[in-house]
Amino acid sequence: MARRLDYKDHRRELEANRYVYAVVSRRARGLSIGVNLNPDKACNFDCPYCQVDRATPGGPSRVEVADLASELEDLLRRAAGDLWTTPPFDTVAPELRRLADVAFAGDGEPTTPPEFPATARAAREARDRLAPGVPLRLLTNATLFHKDRVRTALTEFDELWCKLDAGTEQYFQIVDGTRLPFRRILDNLLLVARERPIVIQSLFLALDGAGPDEAEIAAWVERMLEIRAGGGRIDHVQVYTVARTPSDPRCGPLDGERLEAIAARARAAGLAAAVYA
Ligand code: SF4
Repeated sequence: MARRLDYKDHRRELEANRYVYAVVSRRARGLSIGVNLNPDKACNFDCPYCQVDRATPGGPSRVEVADLASELEDLLRRAAGDLWTTPPFDTVAPELRRLADVAFAGDGEPTTPPEFPATARAAREARDRLAPGVPLRLLTNATLFHKDRVRTALTEFDELWCKLDAGTEQYFQIVDGTRLPFRRILDNLLLVARERPIVIQSLFLALDGAGPDEAEIAAWVERMLEIRAGGGRIDHVQVYTVARTPSDPRCGPLDGERLEAIAARARAAGLAAAVYA
């Protein structure tokens, strides 16, 4: 029997494509058309839980906007037509056979390439024409929101899903593998959340068997409350964990009970929170 394609099977299909892929997303609850702006696999974070295979080299860093737009248009058309009768998509569970979103989320931070604004415009135009009503999402670590070229391009997206994996500088550096200042991320989140609601996506994991301690979770909640107190709006918080093979074998998932307890801390502070175990 053919393998059923579901969210546990996150292999990318349409391998001939350079930028646009399709996965069944558990968080989007359906087919997510992904746009990868980092074919070179470069990222300004180095999260130990990252699932990008950097052992094999990536492609050129330059993004060909016209090629990307063409791949996206083709897949948007197929999602409204023959895709669901084509292997492996014909094995997707019926309730997941829906185009859930178009998401900029690939092998690195999507806002870093210089072509980000042009690709965002192209994706917005294709979505408007071929899949109106399907949300265009940006999954981002928010490191570059303070740059004008990035901030302007954010307006092309319906939703911003922003990473916040920590509450303290020290833990942030560990779980996101960066020396970029935590303050920069927090300031950027506030900057944009003052203009429009953002979604916070927080991955919590066990590192050498140990999850974040209570003080870290309290600090994480505190950082979100600071955004709110500063006039920022948080639509909701997504709490999830490692689902696939991470780059660092010290990383493992937290169990559902622990994730629920973390989400409960956010809810107790008045934030809407959902768990994706
Ligand atoms: S920000 Fe995303 S792509 Fe970059 S290292 Fe972290 S998990 Fe990987």
